[in-house]
Amino acid sequence: MPNSSTTPPDLYRIRVAVAVHVYDCFDYTLTAEQYQQAEVGARVAVSFGRQNLIGIIVEKLPFDAPIDPRFKLKAITELLDEQAILDQTILNLLTWSAQYYQFPMGEVFQSALPTFLRQGKPYNLLARMWKVLDLKAESKVSRSIKQQDAYKILKLHPSGTTENILNLAGIETATLKALEKKAIVACVLEDQDFTPQAISLAQMPLTANDEQKHAIQQVIKSAKKYQAFLLDGLTGSGKTEVYLQIMQHVLQQGKQVLVLVPEIGLTPQTISRFQSRFHGNIVLLHSGLNDSKRLQAWQAAQTGKASIILGTRSAIYTPLPNLGLIVLDEEHDLSFKQQEGFRYHARDVALYRAHLAGCPIVLGTATPSIESYALVQAGKMTHLQLNQRAGIAVMPKVHLIDLKIAQKQNGISQQLMDEIQKRLDKKEQVLVFLNRRGYAPVLICESCAWQAKCPHCDANFTVHRVPYQHLHCHHCGTIHRMPEHCPQCQHAELKPIGLGTAKVEERLQQLFPNFEVIRVDRDSTSRVGSWQKIYDKIQKSEPIILLGTQMLAKGHHFPYVTLVAILDIDSGLLSVDFRATERTAQLIVQVSGRAGRGEHKGDVYLQTLRPDHPLLNTLIQQDYRHFAQQTLKERQAAQLPPFRYAALIRCESKDQAQNQAFLQQHAQALREISENLIDIWGPIPAPMERKAGRYQAHMVLLSTDRARLHFYLRAWWQNMLHQKPSTMKLTLDIDPQELS
Ligand code: ADP
Ligand code: ZN
Ligand code: ZN
Repeated sequence: MPNSSTTPPDLYRIRVAVAVHVYDCFDYTLTAEQYQQAEVGARVAVSFGRQNLIGIIVEKLPFDAPIDPRFKLKAITELLDEQAILDQTILNLLTWSAQYYQFPMGEVFQSALPTFLRQGKPYNLLARMWKVLDLKAESKVSRSIKQQDAYKILKLHPSGTTENILNLAGIETATLKALEKKAIVACVLEDQDFTPQAISLAQMPLTANDEQKHAIQQVIKSAKKYQAFLLDGLTGSGKTEVYLQIMQHVLQQGKQVLVLVPEIGLTPQTISRFQSRFHGNIVLLHSGLNDSKRLQAWQAAQTGKASIILGTRSAIYTPLPNLGLIVLDEEHDLSFKQQEGFRYHARDVALYRAHLAGCPIVLGTATPSIESYALVQAGKMTHLQLNQRAGIAVMPKVHLIDLKIAQKQNGISQQLMDEIQKRLDKKEQVLVFLNRRGYAPVLICESCAWQAKCPHCDANFTVHRVPYQHLHCHHCGTIHRMPEHCPQCQHAELKPIGLGTAKVEERLQQLFPNFEVIRVDRDSTSRVGSWQKIYDKIQKSEPIILLGTQMLAKGHHFPYVTLVAILDIDSGLLSVDFRATERTAQLIVQVSGRAGRGEHKGDVYLQTLRPDHPLLNTLIQQDYRHFAQQTLKERQAAQLPPFRYAALIRCESKDQAQNQAFLQQHAQALREISENLIDIWGPIPAPMERKAGRYQAHMVLLSTDRARLHFYLRAWWQNMLHQKPSTMKLTLDIDPQELS
């Protein structure tokens, strides 16, 4: 240790990932004592500009580290954690993510923390209890209203109140600390038990069939090292049972298992299957939890107390000291990709995480993404197949209805109505699928063909009738009164055309007045618990018609549904996005997969104006795998992702000419520095050029060499950010999933 009298003030330094949208990490000074205590992976409070922010220590700098002359060194405000709360593996994963997705490190690091810890609250918040020491201290309490309120409340609960509850009641920790200084109140810590809890079987496993057995054994064989598996199993083929039996093996080794699912709220059944199989500490991590529940669950995971961690996308960044397996269910689901801010793909991050942890990872689905098939083809992922439905269920038969020639009323064919009637008469359930909310997608004038358009977007207004008649833009949220006559020709007949779920609901209710029609979409299930109620109903063998959007496509087990009707997927067949056919095929197969999962055989009826479309024919005459193999070949021939790596630049401002010119100029610069090794598409106007009053332009960069793409991209992207006008918004999307 150098002699303190000659010690320069900036000797003890740490590097901090500050929670702010700036790419660099920043150095701060601290005292010798703080430096001793500071751990990489712990939180610090720092001042940044005029703000007080939280950061994570990423490095303790050696004394001889050079000082960055660009910044004036400041001292930290406070060390917030005595110990690291993010372990080295998570720090590596976060650092890799920040670099790979080219997003500010400090913000990326925040994704690993539950809200309370992001806000700088103490790690042991839930254990902190405040008690009154002196019940006759009124005179000692200062006149501040805050202190008096705090004192009154604490007096009401002599046995103590947790800090968290006090905070929620508006009593700040600073106020409590002020009272503590005067010895009026004290903080006591309750014991927090973080010892790992043993896990045991609560329910006997099913007897696995041969295909299931093979899959289970393959994964167990590599249970102690990194290997990626694609569990490619038909809908209802028993993938969940495979996960459960592999988990059982890993849990018996005392390891933790991370299970990622698309949306917890939508799959209560899957969750309860995990919960009923194992006794022990299973925690859920998803956005529906309140902040204290979330902290509690996160700590159980982070300390190793919990053995099974079930979560959505962001749970991939939870520290797990003992990770032994990752399961990612419905791997094709788009919700694994964050579509704003830090645009990571949890599937790709999960693969890297399993690699860091040296454990197997199982990606399961009935409709694998083309990315996963490409990894199988490249020998980077092991392909496991389940080709039969488990138990006695068989795959449903798919029938096409040609809407061009069919007899129909309001977009629903007579043949379909007859089939629905037959199922209901047999007391079976029917699922009607339409991926469009609202009453009708277009309002048109019968006289002059005027259409109601959102004034801020290049889009039609959707007609809604509930809770009152109105026009709603699904892109920017604008709501307008329903016009009484045409603003162009004053004609009084305005007609809603096209189908939305609300209109189909009205229609079905008229046609089948004796049966219940249940609509499931974001409009009807936004209230907490409403989806659970609907779910319970579906599990009873009563004849009902379920009508809904893609919420109904997600992995559910509906044993009494024998007919699935797909009303309109034609827009997916016509879209310009090269991934549109893949998404449409997945949707058709997933929705169809809800039919015939019980003892009765299922049928699927698909209405279309394009019955000869090659996608439909491959899917129906062959299957999803054939479709995927064809798509894989086409993508390879056209050198589209995943055969080339892509990055999408989105540029948004009030001036499209400015967007285009800016992108054009930087495209030229990139061509020069990369010596034309990177292929550049665009700039072109975005598919929806104007949204919420702003114009968007796109540019896509492509390369067969991922490292090279990222290498050139880094400096170029930073440069663009520096040069852009302040009124322009630029975003970078690495491995974009949607070109809109
Ligand atoms: P997936 O996840 O592939 O869609 P599930 O795991 O939901 O399929 O299985 C569908 C149904 O088959 C469930 O009711 C499940 O209990 C049952 N099942 C799965 N495996 C077996 C098995 N080996 N024997 C009997 N029934 C099974
Ligand atoms: Zn008109
Ligand atoms: Zn709009």
